[in-house]
Amino acid sequence: MPTYVYDFDQGNKDQKDLLGGKGAGLAEMTNLGLPVPPGFTISTDACRAYLAEGAEPAGLEAEVDEHLHTLEERMGRRLGDPDDPLLVSVRSGAKFSMPGMMETVLDVGLNDRSVVGLAEQSGDDRFAADSYRRLLQMFGTTVLGIDGEAFSDRMDAADELDTEQLRMVVEDFKAIIREHTGHDFPQDPREQLRLAIRAVFSSWNTPRAALYRRQEQIPDDLGTAVNIQAMVFGNRGQTSGSGVAFTRDPATGDQGLYGDYLTDAQGEDVVAGIRNTIAIADLAELDRTSYEELLRIMATLEKHYRDMCDLEFTIEDGHLWMLQTRVGKRTAEAAVRIAADMVDEGLIDEDEALRRVTGDQLVALMFPRFAPDPSRQPVTTGMNASPGAAVGKVALDSDTAVAWAERGDDVILVRKETTPDDLHGMVAARGVLTSRGGKTSHAAVVARGMGRTCVCGAEAIRIDLVNRRFEVRGGPTVEEGDVISIDGGTGEVFVGEVPVSDPDVVRRLEGEDVDDPVADAVERLLERADAVRRLAVRANADTPEDAIRARRFGAAGIGLCRTEHMFLGERRGLVEDLIVAEDDAQKEHALTGLEPLQRSDFIEILTAMDGLPVTVRLIDPPLHEFLPDLTDLAVRVALEDERHDEDERDHLMLAAVRRLHEHNPMLGLRGVRIGLVIPGLFDLQARAIAEATAERIAAGGDPRPEIMVPLVASERELALIRAQLEAVVATVAEEQGVALDIPIGTMIELPRAAVTADRIATVADFFSFGTNDLTQTVWGFSRDDVEAAFFPAYRDQGVFPVSPFESLDVEGVGDLVRTAVRLGRSTKPDLHMGVCGEHGGDPASIHFFDEVGLDYVSCSPFRVPVARWEAARAVLGAT
Ligand code: ADP
Ligand code: MG
Ligand code: MG
Repeated sequence: MPTYVYDFDQGNKDQKDLLGGKGAGLAEMTNLGLPVPPGFTISTDACRAYLAEGAEPAGLEAEVDEHLHTLEERMGRRLGDPDDPLLVSVRSGAKFSMPGMMETVLDVGLNDRSVVGLAEQSGDDRFAADSYRRLLQMFGTTVLGIDGEAFSDRMDAADELDTEQLRMVVEDFKAIIREHTGHDFPQDPREQLRLAIRAVFSSWNTPRAALYRRQEQIPDDLGTAVNIQAMVFGNRGQTSGSGVAFTRDPATGDQGLYGDYLTDAQGEDVVAGIRNTIAIADLAELDRTSYEELLRIMATLEKHYRDMCDLEFTIEDGHLWMLQTRVGKRTAEAAVRIAADMVDEGLIDEDEALRRVTGDQLVALMFPRFAPDPSRQPVTTGMNASPGAAVGKVALDSDTAVAWAERGDDVILVRKETTPDDLHGMVAARGVLTSRGGKTSHAAVVARGMGRTCVCGAEAIRIDLVNRRFEVRGGPTVEEGDVISIDGGTGEVFVGEVPVSDPDVVRRLEGEDVDDPVADAVERLLERADAVRRLAVRANADTPEDAIRARRFGAAGIGLCRTEHMFLGERRGLVEDLIVAEDDAQKEHALTGLEPLQRSDFIEILTAMDGLPVTVRLIDPPLHEFLPDLTDLAVRVALEDERHDEDERDHLMLAAVRRLHEHNPMLGLRGVRIGLVIPGLFDLQARAIAEATAERIAAGGDPRPEIMVPLVASERELALIRAQLEAVVATVAEEQGVALDIPIGTMIELPRAAVTADRIATVADFFSFGTNDLTQTVWGFSRDDVEAAFFPAYRDQGVFPVSPFESLDVEGVGDLVRTAVRLGRSTKPDLHMGVCGEHGGDPASIHFFDEVGLDYVSCSPFRVPVARWEAARAVLGAT
């Protein structure tokens, strides 16, 4: 018989799979000797078994009985005893925290008789009645599935009710339960416990929990643990209360403790924004002893976890109890700051700091901010709960936010407070603004987790849902649909659209002198990353400006210089001439017109990347992309004919465009096929590259071009083109009297190329994996056609968790990459290999490329720092 239940002192912090995050944290604190109300954890195994079978697995009931008995012995009270009841909480807790997504029931064990016992034992009638009405409400909604609205109009005013009124509420709530379920509220405490445990198990599968998991990429099959814990009471008057805290500021990473505390409150009250909380520092005045003990505990936890922790605590009549801890969620800013600070404090080393901050967090730090402008005045300022600059139309409820986002609008979700039911609105919105709640409110926690900009607790705002607008005290009235801008870094709220600019981190990476601790931390850890990583990082850059920026961001060359733009604009005419040329002389004329223009393009790029490799990809897209649109041209020719004003060139062009028209251009005449079918174009490009190189050498530079042939499927294609290109380069070398050493390699972007890579390697100096086309051809779908059309449905049905164009499909496409690497190196052990698809800047894909032994990744200039970072994290085994 498997074991399903563990006492808190039987577990530890590393058992999150089995005990869930909350259970593991409770166990760890118990073992550290911190004041934790005793209890036990039902493992995730039991939940998975329950969900699979639709019933408690055999043996679970008996185990729960046994552990409950031990708990009763320890506490000297029996669950729901009429004279002196033990009450327990029944708390969900999955491996990964899912704030507010699943259920917890407090005060289990109260009934019509034990509520009298509780009142007598505590000497506090009001407290007992208040606890009972809380149980009825929580049990009614979470266990019995009654809509929260049914209870809620009584709830807002609960603080002001006296004992008699609370007792009436209790009777009302019992009636509501009877009315909605056809049964009385279960009076048997053990029955309450059984039903609550079931409800927690089942809450794993609520739609909102499933949505949250998809959003956060948490697997669906983990299940939740259930923690049964003796209740402690923060709702016993002014010497009691409950709070949440972080050991450092989760928004900025600043040192010092952060959190909210509410006197005479239980559980969720503090995060629900029902009353206004006080800052944790002010607890010192209310209850110095508990405050100081809390400080000591926080220091213990930080040292022990070697990380920033968040925690929940309750003070019952001057006695402090710890109810939860875990490594706290934080913004990207805070993540880098805390990691770097902890290196200074000797808690961790720089490698651990790198492991803790993901490349995605670095990306978040590089997003634009509102441009500083002292003359701009916020209409109000709330709390800076989750950073970023968000601009959008005000939406006052989540359904509206989703509807407007779907039609393409940027929206800011503005709510009094958010609840787990607002998740879809928060996902759809650019930013979230609330008028109540602190940095630990639902809005703040969830927004930080999602990387969504959030300003919370902007108390000057009064939302008027009837007239669909909000008023700012002493300020304007803003209608739903008006544009506002919110700054999650400062908490400022602006009416209208505020322009954005680069953040300090980017300015520092660009070489500017900025005074910013986040930029300091990033720079320092990037230096370490460069020392650790094995992969080189190049950039995809087509212009000198991009090349220069990429260099400043630390690129070791260009891995993909596209040449398409060199045929566009005013040069189009020459391309058209080339296509309609009737004889070699005309063709030659067009080509010689294009060559000097391209040569000067290459000179600029080689100058910008002097001393570093520049991989130039010969023309890739289908030729007709450089020609006039078929319909436009057909109409023009038809009109000309009607007017008997025929233009011979237009006719020739129309014929050419018709000839080149393709139903599947992606699979048509492009890449190396153009080079073989329309001789001259590749030669022209090779000549331009070779002459630019010669000129740079003559000018004393150190040009390092490499020529890359796209869309090769067979060795023969590359061999033919290679011979042609080599001849051109040799001619130029002779003409100019310089030695030119220009490697010629190929893209591996077709399945056939990957599986014949050993043979292709005989005629290639290097490989560069074009993982975009490889993904398209392996899956057999064209990105432009399918991504918007059916990827959402594919994600929903679990065909893939993310688009294979965003993150490399390791199983399929990755397998071909691995094969090609192996085959290529079986021919040439030192064959230089990189990747130039967009995956080169994607964290998960970078880890894969490191693992299969590529030499470099190439990505957009903006992502170069991220790639440097993740390449190091790959070596350090971070995930
Ligand atoms: P969540 O995962 O949503 O935070 P929790 O299980 O932590 O849910 O519980 C909800 C609230 O009830 C928290 O504020 C928690 O501190 C409080 N709580 C849970 N168990 C107890 C207990 N045994 N005594 C007092 N308060 C509790
Ligand atoms: Mg909690
Ligand atoms: Mg391609």
